[in-house]
Amino acid sequence: MSRRPLIAGNWKMNGLGEDGARLAAALRDLMAATPDSPFDMMVAPPFTLIGRIAEFLAGSRIGLGGQDCHSDASGPHTGDVSAPMLADLGCRYVIVGHSERRTGHGEADAQVRAKARAGLDAGLIAVVCIGETEAERDAGYTLDMVGRQLGRSLPPGADAANTVIAYEPVWAIGTGRTPTGEEVQHVHGFIRARLADTLGGDEAAGTRILYGGSMKPGNAAGLLGLAAVDGGLIGGASLKAEDFWAIAESCS
Ligand code: PEP
Repeated sequence: MSRRPLIAGNWKMNGLGEDGARLAAALRDLMAATPDSPFDMMVAPPFTLIGRIAEFLAGSRIGLGGQDCHSDASGPHTGDVSAPMLADLGCRYVIVGHSERRTGHGEADAQVRAKARAGLDAGLIAVVCIGETEAERDAGYTLDMVGRQLGRSLPPGADAANTVIAYEPVWAIGTGRTPTGEEVQHVHGFIRARLADTLGGDEAAGTRILYGGSMKPGNAAGLLGLAAVDGGLIGGASLKAEDFWAIAESCS
């Protein structure tokens, strides 16, 4: 089954109004000039910019996403944002379980799963992040950790259309280090096999599995050219339109 690559930009806690507007406008124009782009594109700005970026991307093929959501649709959760609120702003995606949420905010798999389910209930595509730490990798537990996180974070009702998996080794995020292509292939193959056990072969074959962690223009072709890689989740390099676009153009 062919899977259309997804190039996803996670802006994290970066950008004031003008920065975000410039970046979104540049990407919108590049996308408009590339009607046959062989990839889907999504950007996840900070919550404060989503409304403004939605205006810039109106009518564009670039999707908008949240970087997180609460598992409830509404209620007494000061400072949180719900999935229906993201959908209301024009988002089509929500990232859940990013390692910076798991470590910085103590989010466990059960919470990630509930957030992903909330995203699906709001009609969003859930981008579920999983990945091992450096210590787990060094101890030889990469597949155990990835398998455990996947099994516990995948929401009920997940399928190829509403869920994307992002494999992001924690030690590769923002460090300039990446696994070898062989390692990425191996982990992605393992994830797809686990998806087949859970969702069935057809849904697993159609589910996009992104790689994330220090993807840059210089290494993107090697990573995105791997048969088991269906796109990228990109942090630092998504903040410069020319770098993010160069990565997207590396999709074969
Ligand atoms: C990320 O935070 O999801 C990420 C992949 O970051 P970076 O590309 O900066 O490593």
